[in-house]
Amino acid sequence: MVVDDTIVAVSSPPGPAMRGIIRLSGPRASALAQHVFKPDLVGPLEAGLMPRRVVGKVTVEAVSLPAAALVFPAPRSYTRQDIVEIHLLGAPTLLGMVTEALLACGARRAEPGEFTARAFLAGAMDLSQVHGIAGMIAAVSDAQLRAAARLLHGSLSETAPKAREEIADLLSLVEGALDFADEPIEFITPVALRDRLVRVKNLLADTSAAGLRTERWGRLPRAVLLGRPNAGKSSLFNSLSGMNRAICAPVPGTTRDVISAPIRAESVECLLLDIAGLDAPRDRIDARAQAQAREAVESADVVLLVIDAAEIATGFDSVGAANSPIAEFLADVQAFLREDQARFIVANKADLVSDAQMASVANLLCASATLPVIETSTITGEGCDHIRSLIARALFNRPMDKDDGAIALMAEHREALDESVNAVDRAIALTVQSSASLADADLVAAELHAAAAALGALVGREDTEELLGRIFSRFCVGK
Ligand code: GDP
Repeated sequence: MVVDDTIVAVSSPPGPAMRGIIRLSGPRASALAQHVFKPDLVGPLEAGLMPRRVVGKVTVEAVSLPAAALVFPAPRSYTRQDIVEIHLLGAPTLLGMVTEALLACGARRAEPGEFTARAFLAGAMDLSQVHGIAGMIAAVSDAQLRAAARLLHGSLSETAPKAREEIADLLSLVEGALDFADEPIEFITPVALRDRLVRVKNLLADTSAAGLRTERWGRLPRAVLLGRPNAGKSSLFNSLSGMNRAICAPVPGTTRDVISAPIRAESVECLLLDIAGLDAPRDRIDARAQAQAREAVESADVVLLVIDAAEIATGFDSVGAANSPIAEFLADVQAFLREDQARFIVANKADLVSDAQMASVANLLCASATLPVIETSTITGEGCDHIRSLIARALFNRPMDKDDGAIALMAEHREALDESVNAVDRAIALTVQSSASLADADLVAAELHAAAAALGALVGREDTEELLGRIFSRFCVGK
């Protein structure tokens, strides 16, 4: 990984915004920035040792606009190198033009995560903190952000080096015993060694268990809106998420992709999914949309079965309750769901039916499936709070022992911790076999080497270039 050239990237989020940021890092950051940024007051951009803000203008092609440059001289910067951030109007075309101009005068376009990679390589942070930052960038919800922040500041970056130091200490004692096997010196008794190893193991195992909780936390639980086309799923999605993302229309088949938004159900946060209505596919695109929809349903913890109450009520008037296709629909859907998926019926469009009709609809639904029925209307807003409270209750009671959607963020950590715990465990087993003096000291030493190496990878001291590349490539450009 090259670290001594000067890299550039837009580091503000994509899309138009009031403010955009272009970030340069490397020995020529100030010199290159001056090609596009002129301070209002005379004076070179690179003067001084302290971070500061310089007001001026960005000029590129025929455009000249007010801007500010934040100058962070090395080593007082994120990457420990000279950094200049140009803060300007967040118009994507303008940001693109300025970046191109900087590339033309000698900067290199930063790879995803390259700024953080430089910070890491300069010793500004360890790998678990790097993971924390990656998590923050990828976080789509408060809960994920909190989980990532806990990683960044959390116990892992304290525990791993501490455990590693203790293991290194024990290793030196065991190796001392090996080197001086013929001498009557006792470096450490098997009992003392075992006690200290058990303490290290417990520390690592506790951290690994806490990591697991973070993983579960990091993956938001999901609630999916499932129903026939036109039942009002997209309208409910918009009402519950407070967003206007799903397109609602009287034409069936309007929703094709899976749309998701984080929502708060009382104290619980979850991801609400809107999917294509389940019906016989009309064409190839619809068949794909339905396949995606089924995958989304499989991933859900809570399923909201959305029914058009008005349609059922009309069906009563013309064909009679017994012929309503709703019972068949509910039976089909239920057969498709897993047992551990909480579910309830949402009888939507309550505003279109009379109380008496709604009572018959509810009776029919109850007879078809023994599930709670919530009456809703996206026109009057009726029932939305009730839905939230049922989702919250279902999620609160959900079994917590499944490990599937664990976020990748923690996977490497857990692997390294568990590898280390296992090696320490094997070393403990060897010391148990020894009585007065340490037999098999060479085997114990080998296990301790393995334990320290696993932790080394965690704190980032023994990493290969390949591993680094893999981690930093998850970042977005500009970070
Ligand atoms: P989807 O296909 O299930 O996503 O259904 P949409 O949300 O697109 O809604 C289909 C049609 O029903 C649209 O014309 C909506 O305006 C209408 N609609 C949705 N919810 C309600 C409701 O509670 N009351 C009434 N009167 N119309 C609704």
